[in-house]
Amino acid sequence: MNIRLRSKLPHVGTTIFTVMSRMASEHNAINLSQGYPDFDGPAPLKEALCRYINDGYNQYSPLAGILKLREQVAVKVKAFYNHNACPEENITVVPGATEAIFCAIQASVHPGDEVIVFDPAYDSYEPSIQLCGAKAIHIPLLPPDFKTDWQRVSDSITAKTRMIIINNPHNPTGTVWSEDDIKQLSRIIENTDILLLSDEVYEHLVYDNRPHLSILSFPELAKRAFVVSSFGKTYHVTGWKTGYCIAPQPLTSEFRKAHQFVSFVGVTPVQHALADFMEQYPEHCLELPHFYQEKRDLFVSKIASSKFRVSASSGTYFQLADYREISDLPDTAFVEYLTRTVGVAAIPISVFYETPPDSHLIRFCFCKENSTLMKAAEKLCAI
Ligand code: PMP
Ligand code: GLN
Repeated sequence: MNIRLRSKLPHVGTTIFTVMSRMASEHNAINLSQGYPDFDGPAPLKEALCRYINDGYNQYSPLAGILKLREQVAVKVKAFYNHNACPEENITVVPGATEAIFCAIQASVHPGDEVIVFDPAYDSYEPSIQLCGAKAIHIPLLPPDFKTDWQRVSDSITAKTRMIIINNPHNPTGTVWSEDDIKQLSRIIENTDILLLSDEVYEHLVYDNRPHLSILSFPELAKRAFVVSSFGKTYHVTGWKTGYCIAPQPLTSEFRKAHQFVSFVGVTPVQHALADFMEQYPEHCLELPHFYQEKRDLFVSKIASSKFRVSASSGTYFQLADYREISDLPDTAFVEYLTRTVGVAAIPISVFYETPPDSHLIRFCFCKENSTLMKAAEKLCAI
């Protein structure tokens, strides 16, 4: 007998990050597609993990994460954003920001609700919304500057709007929010009960002396927000899949109900290692903008003589590049050509739009060794 299965996500395929990394490896191309470093996290962090494993920290951790790590997160958000988060009531450590996003949505969005997302949107948002039986309302951010059209946001709010998902610094465009963006958002949602999900996984990757405007710094916004971050990005250990969510107590309580039946808890020795490292090396986060800005500058300067047109990224470890002078191919075909023929893999940005704009933009990832960036730039300049 044939088993009949009606897909709950009929329009979802394999994520573009997996597709492009696989293609990069098949063609032995330099992989500037999926966002992960080709270098290791700090040695003391790795040593701490080995030590905790060998010392027997290998069983379930508490549901909300080990207390010491939540305390370190509280110290950090107080120092960076002047936000008071209580480790017991407001902070939950989970296996990756992806899970935090999923749980925040599952915990608060109902069938028939609408959730506003800004395109190009990180690809986990819409499926997480659809699995709740809710609808994503897409608002495009358009090239060249990808500014938010706040009038359009305002016009898109209905009685069904339950949540707005924001991502600042923004993947894949590399833009960061201004004070004015925060003001406009505040104005639009005051006097509503709309929730915010603020994806701030690149919170420490902001360049040219700009500040990161975390939602946590704005009490009127923070009181209705799930704020999500990822240790993977901040400590160069994306494969450790550990992130956290900060939210007011009633939101945290609902969030944990979902989390306990998705993964239940995060990985115990990883949490201990991260807690020790945060305590011993608080300067790590302060050094990150400089560390990645140097890589951005290296990559941008090395491809300056190519036919790609770039405007330096303001945040994240991604750099958009316009290939209009090279090819008329759609971006999905162009990245395939780049990977197979030129030997450098990148990410097309049209896949993150409901209605892609007429653009010729692709995303390169620059969280790579300088030697990797230079080799890739040489290939890109030869086109
Ligand atoms: N949000 C954005 C915008 C991202 O780029 C990523 C990167 N993976 C995530 C969430 C998920 O982070 P994690 O690997 O911690 O699940
Ligand atoms: N966030 C990473 C990126 O944008 C990839 C994460 C993933 O592969 N899911 O490249």
